[in-house]
Amino acid sequence: MAENNAQAVAAPEAEIRDYPMIIGGQPVAAERYFDVVNPATGGLVGRAPMASGRDLDGAVAAANAAFESWSKTSDEARAEACLAIAKKVEENAEETARLISMEQGKPLNGIGSRFEMGGVQGWAAYTSSLSMPIKVLQDDAQGRVELHRKPVGVVGSITPWNWPVLIAAWHFLPAVRAGCTVVVKPSPFTPLSTIRLIELLNEVLPAGVLNVVSSDDVTTNIGAAMSQHDGIRKIVFTGSCATGSKIMQSVAPSMKRLTLEMGGNDAGIVLPDVDPAAIAEGLFWGAFINNGQTCAALKRLYVHADVYDDVCNALVDFAKTIPLGDPLDENSILGPISNQMQFDKVKALVDASKHQGRVLLGGAPGEGLFYPPTIIADLDNSAPLVAEEQFGPALPIIKFEDVEEAIAMANDVEVGLGGSVWTTDTAKGQEIASRLECGSVWLNSHGMIQPNAPFGGLKKSGLGVEFGEEGLMEYTDIQTQFLGPR
Ligand code: NAD
Repeated sequence: MAENNAQAVAAPEAEIRDYPMIIGGQPVAAERYFDVVNPATGGLVGRAPMASGRDLDGAVAAANAAFESWSKTSDEARAEACLAIAKKVEENAEETARLISMEQGKPLNGIGSRFEMGGVQGWAAYTSSLSMPIKVLQDDAQGRVELHRKPVGVVGSITPWNWPVLIAAWHFLPAVRAGCTVVVKPSPFTPLSTIRLIELLNEVLPAGVLNVVSSDDVTTNIGAAMSQHDGIRKIVFTGSCATGSKIMQSVAPSMKRLTLEMGGNDAGIVLPDVDPAAIAEGLFWGAFINNGQTCAALKRLYVHADVYDDVCNALVDFAKTIPLGDPLDENSILGPISNQMQFDKVKALVDASKHQGRVLLGGAPGEGLFYPPTIIADLDNSAPLVAEEQFGPALPIIKFEDVEEAIAMANDVEVGLGGSVWTTDTAKGQEIASRLECGSVWLNSHGMIQPNAPFGGLKKSGLGVEFGEEGLMEYTDIQTQFLGPR
């Protein structure tokens, strides 16, 4: 990500170019660019625009100008726009998927970049079907009272590097559907796929509805500037708790609306009635989806003593079947860790914890940014790998005897994104799941999300929700109309 990094070498297959900002429907060149590097090869994928404060002003002005008309378009027109987005995504999915694989490191196959593009298409189609009907609160001799939903205005979307395009879509789809206009600011690690997608979507959206700018966070920090910008009415942010907290402080003077989707440290609790072989695949993908670089991945596994050894063995056996390799290789199912910063974090947490437990698989880096799936048993809540969010391919396993103790350990964190219970007793599983302090709970799976089910974090994991009608409403203000007797 270094500016003009002379050491970067060309990645095979990548069309190396300077990507523009997209402002007011037009590609706009920046004065400077920064390198975006392929985590699998160290090669250059392309150069992203280093937006200045003036570029951001231009993008916000374009979004405000477009808001004047977009907020007044009919509900049908906005529903149609989401369908047009879905179609455009479908037509260009492979190109964008390859770009995601090159800059983010997730393979084309498995739960990889083609899956990510499928998600964008599915979410776009679903978002088209949502609506914001006027709610009649009262209609009698005393008068009529109506609740109207109005688009909040210009939305600033700040996204992370793990699912770069899907998360951007989770932000801009409901915004556009509600009648808002958007300025997207992708992560400096993975800006190119988002820029390219928004370039393509501008072929089907009116100018200024969807804009994108980027920066490297060092030379300029456009995310920070967005949270302070007077022309933006709402920030939707997905990323770390530390940055989310800074944003919350920055928006206070302007009273911007906020949706924050932040870190988690999801626990899974395995009860003694399970069949270890039957749940191994679900446990593995719950934890290792996108190499563990997923907000609601399973990050701590609590297993009852009666099935502990069998669950550990079944998980390791399954993990050994997963091929790691270059993300553009059709045979790869997992790739490298996405960037050096995250690689260093995962390595440090594993190194600090592995002597407290028993390494069942992995435990040491591979080549470059590759890190093999790592499973460490016999840890407790004091191990750094358990206490902190690893956001990488390393799963700690903790043995328990009493389920009350497991629930207490699962809840003993400041965050609360997701949690799961693994059992053949549905009623018991649901009772335990409902006591987990997190925004989503699953029985016998972990991390499955869908466009019609609200998703958000409790405690320090976030504010507000995404998806479903509730997620759409986060892009609206309520206006209550007291219309008197008719
Ligand atoms: P990050 O907080 O470092 O960066 C996220 C975004 O914020 C980037 O675009 C970055 O440029 C921008 N940013 C940096 N400084 C800023 C500032 N001062 N003000 C405003 N914006 C700023 O997070 P990351 O490393 O990209 O992502 C990993 C984290 O995201 C993990 O903790 C993970 O759990 C979390 N995450 C959460 C969800 C969810 O839905 N809850 C989804 C994905 C990732």
